[in-house]
Amino acid sequence: MTYRAPVADIAFTLKHGAGLGRMIEDGSLGDLDADLLGAVVTEAGRFASDVLAPLNRPGDRQGAAFKDGAVTMPPGWKEAYRSWAAAGWNALVAPTQWGGQGLPHAINSACIEMWSSASMAFSLGPLLTNAAVEALRAHGCDELKKTYLPKLVSGEWMGTMEMTEPQAGSDVGALRTKAERVPDGTYRLSGQKIFITYGEHDLTDNIIHFVLARLPDSPPGTKGLSFFLVPKFLINADGSLGERNDLRAHSIEHKLGIHASPTCTMVYGDHGGAKAFLIGEENRGMACMFTMMNLARLAVGLQGVGVAERATQEALAYARERRQGRPAGSSEPAPIIVYPDVKRMLLSMRALTRAARAICYSTAVLNDRAHRAKNEETRRQARERAALLTPIAKAFSSDVGIEVASLGIQVHGGMGYIEETGAAQHLRDARIAAIYEGTNGIQALDLVARKVPLADGTTVQAYIEDLRRTVAVVNAANDPTFGSTGARLSEALDHLDRTTLWLLKQLAKDPDTALAGATPYLRLFSAAAGGCLLADEALAASRQPEGDSGDGAGRIALARFFAENIAVQAPGLAASVTDGAGALDGAPFTAAMQH
Ligand SMILES: Cc1cc2nc3c(=O)[nH]c(=O)nc-3n(C[C@H](O)[C@H](O)[C@H](O)COP(=O)(O)OP(=O)(O)OC[C@H]3O[C@@H](n4cnc5c(N)ncnc54)[C@H](O)[C@@H]3O)c2cc1C
Repeated sequence: MTYRAPVADIAFTLKHGAGLGRMIEDGSLGDLDADLLGAVVTEAGRFASDVLAPLNRPGDRQGAAFKDGAVTMPPGWKEAYRSWAAAGWNALVAPTQWGGQGLPHAINSACIEMWSSASMAFSLGPLLTNAAVEALRAHGCDELKKTYLPKLVSGEWMGTMEMTEPQAGSDVGALRTKAERVPDGTYRLSGQKIFITYGEHDLTDNIIHFVLARLPDSPPGTKGLSFFLVPKFLINADGSLGERNDLRAHSIEHKLGIHASPTCTMVYGDHGGAKAFLIGEENRGMACMFTMMNLARLAVGLQGVGVAERATQEALAYARERRQGRPAGSSEPAPIIVYPDVKRMLLSMRALTRAARAICYSTAVLNDRAHRAKNEETRRQARERAALLTPIAKAFSSDVGIEVASLGIQVHGGMGYIEETGAAQHLRDARIAAIYEGTNGIQALDLVARKVPLADGTTVQAYIEDLRRTVAVVNAANDPTFGSTGARLSEALDHLDRTTLWLLKQLAKDPDTALAGATPYLRLFSAAAGGCLLADEALAASRQPEGDSGDGAGRIALARFFAENIAVQAPGLAASVTDGAGALDGAPFTAAMQH
């Protein structure tokens, strides 16, 4: 079954659940109105469904091919990429000054979800290029911006993000790629990077590498890293492509999924060093990389949402068709969708997908607010809240991608496990999203160690208070179709609140015990926030006129399912954070792992 972009759902969540509607109303988005938002989402949905989705299976089967240093993309990919870029999709968010359309990040996020549903392997190159554009725009000098931004924005060239080396994965500060100063103000790079996404390919004529490297006299660790732009082909004074730079792809990886996304080992400096241009200041490379990574982390969360959406659509269609067993009183085999366990799987898939979407889009709207709100205090608050939610958007949504893709296989039974239905590909593809852009374990540490303590804990407390306001409205609605949504969400928030306070104290007393609970805390946070965002959407939908795409009854049922089946995990998760670390410690851990 092919993918159909859920454009009405997406536009609804953008406008209501994520709060883009409020930004339109308060004028912080200039001329942008709901009609334009709807038109962009609809057109993107059409492109994703009609042009990109058909590339997904052949891309998986054939994969990217490596020969003599060159990577050939699967048949049809180059044409699809070029028509995608020509249609302006790469340029949605970039400033108009550089040829972009200046649209909000939130709209681009909706598009990234749809590109990812259509083909996760396709979406990955452009999302990294987008993140590179933002880093160059924010930190680059005028000359670099003039030379590189227009073509990176249009998609004529693509960008990469290069941190990882064999000894430096999560520990970025251990990287060794060497940068040496050259008297003309440029640098020479030598070393090796591994696992570089779209490090080499034939989609574009030039590839611009964004590389972290270390100067010989720099301090150790992350404080000694600098950020460089390294083009595959150097650029002549007239803007044409010049000499080939001293870098090459040595090989590509054979991997579990995203077969059409070339994952390259890159070698710099076979002939004395690749010519490189510094972005920002020496030894301040991590600040540039964080600009790039924050956008890329949200985008990887959106990949999880995208795969989950497609897996849900396919499982639902299969469950309606596949007939097995006879329900009591019937002589005919029934479609499996009538069975409660199958219904539970399908509802879990849809509820998790929608909750992850709401969290990701809310984070994107906060990024927009952080840039565009009219007063500095609102911008500051939005910046801090976006920082708080980014690791949650990345880790929860990428976990959801995996869980939902796995449930999708389960709904298909044996047909899901064999490759024929495509359900297996979703799980293989989704698996990487919990690993790259900082593993989900590292996201959880970031949440607990850096984001929860932001502004002395007031950022997280203010967010929890806002979530409580939604619960109060659910309770006040006194609508029996909500079931015990209000009560369950209220309990989940109480657990989140108490656990947050416990963590803040524990971080000061015994940081190791606090960090031991980081992963269940992130899940607890997601369960509480996701449930409240779904309830908020349900309230908004129930206020819409009859028959509106908001679908009040459906959204209430989904919010209820989430609250009564997923948010109820909060007490267990909270106990795991506060009391579950005992066996991780020295002697018990050693004893448990001995044999
Ligand atoms: C398909 C693919 C594409 C990729 N694309 C890119 C790319 O374009 N650019 C790029 O630079 N990199 C890329 N990567 C690399 C990716 O970002 C790393 O694999 C990832 O950051 C994890 O690093 P690692 O593999 O070395 O794992 P490790 O760092 O060795 O981690 C192994 C495990 O230990 C845990 N762990 C590690 N350190 C800690 C700690 N301090 N505390 C708690 N737990 C810890 C991790 O969470 C993980 O579970 C890609 C990888 C793959 C597989």
